[in-house]
Amino acid sequence: MEPMKILVLNCGSSSIKFGVFQSPNEKRVAQGIVEEIGANVSSFTFQKRDAETWKKEITAKDHGQALDVILKELSNPKSGVLQDIFEIDAVGHRVVHGGEMFSKSACINEAVFQKIKDCVDLAPLHNPPNIQGIQASLWHMPFARQVAVFDTAFHQSMEPQAFLYALPYAWYEKFKIRRYGFHGTSHQYVAQRVSKIVRTPLEDLKLIVCHLGNGASVTAVDHGKSVDTSMGFTPLEGLVMGTRCGDIDPAIPLHMIRIQNMSANQLDQTLNKKSGFYGITGGDNDLRIIEQKAEMGSEKHQLALEMFSRRVKKYIGAYAAIMGGLDGVVFTGGIGENSGSIRKMICEGLDFLGIELHSDFNNENRTCISTKRTAVFVIPTDEEMAIAHEVIHVLEKEMQFNQKAENFQ
Ligand code: AMP
Repeated sequence: MEPMKILVLNCGSSSIKFGVFQSPNEKRVAQGIVEEIGANVSSFTFQKRDAETWKKEITAKDHGQALDVILKELSNPKSGVLQDIFEIDAVGHRVVHGGEMFSKSACINEAVFQKIKDCVDLAPLHNPPNIQGIQASLWHMPFARQVAVFDTAFHQSMEPQAFLYALPYAWYEKFKIRRYGFHGTSHQYVAQRVSKIVRTPLEDLKLIVCHLGNGASVTAVDHGKSVDTSMGFTPLEGLVMGTRCGDIDPAIPLHMIRIQNMSANQLDQTLNKKSGFYGITGGDNDLRIIEQKAEMGSEKHQLALEMFSRRVKKYIGAYAAIMGGLDGVVFTGGIGENSGSIRKMICEGLDFLGIELHSDFNNENRTCISTKRTAVFVIPTDEEMAIAHEVIHVLEKEMQFNQKAENFQ
């Protein structure tokens, strides 16, 4: 395939994170973020490969204006990385929810775009900014291929016994209530990295990937496929997170409605924004602060660390049982990549699964940190890089398909 330049866009409600990658090897040539889109003053942070990061104030009333600033800066003759925006061959868009309609990334045409819009009901907070990003990108770069990469797609390989809840089956049929799982691009990317490191095809590996950041999830990757994952219908289920509660008895919110007359919005806020680390510690959700305060003797901060690690451990045990074995555990995300003490707490007592950490390697955040049969890895995730990788994969497949069709004619 010809060398390509790929722009990756990760649009949140008030931000656009971006990266420019060059194939082959998906070398990142620039990255940055526009924040506080819609405010009177927005901020723009930009970093060119091997250069200092700089930041300035800009005006970006909406995602379209923000993208305009990004493209101008990328093609700025003095500080940019493109001679012209026409050099961009493809744009990769992170799309949070693809429902049951997307089990892999897809080139965006009218039908695909409509399906992404149809998923808004499932992700009313996340899909709309993704859609705004796609619209702005189509407007500014109609000449480039547009590819959607879904957080949920990797988990579409789950079987019904893993993705269904034991609720009235009609809820699934009528309202699409089921486990979707998230962080899929990251889980898939780090699993692929492990396969390359150990020079073993993913098809021969049973892995448990722990993506531990402010949002956190665990996935059982069996023969390269997601067979179970801790996040569910929304990212609220599963692990204890920065501000999300993770698994709880579903009767608890009902009880709070009855005894405190709480509304759906209040419960949503509490379970998503005021729980997890934040809820237990009384206001802290940054692991670095929690570790410091625990060290200084705060019992609640220590408790939060123990609850978090215990929940991850519980999922590792469960997923090893589901897969009937385990070749490796992978840690990624801000916490997974950086906190040796959390990894230690999680892996303590798991020697029955062949897991034992090398204490120095673990403290140094080395790539391989285990001493026994089951390998334990620390692999930095890179969502934008993973999206660029997917874009190339999709376009390569499309080219092969077109070539076959041509040969057939
Ligand atoms: P993420 O959502 O992946 O960006 O991860 C954010 C979480 O990672 C926060 O809880 C941070 O406190 C934590 N984190 C980031 N860097 C470190 C570090 N060096 N040591 C411990 N935790 C970290």
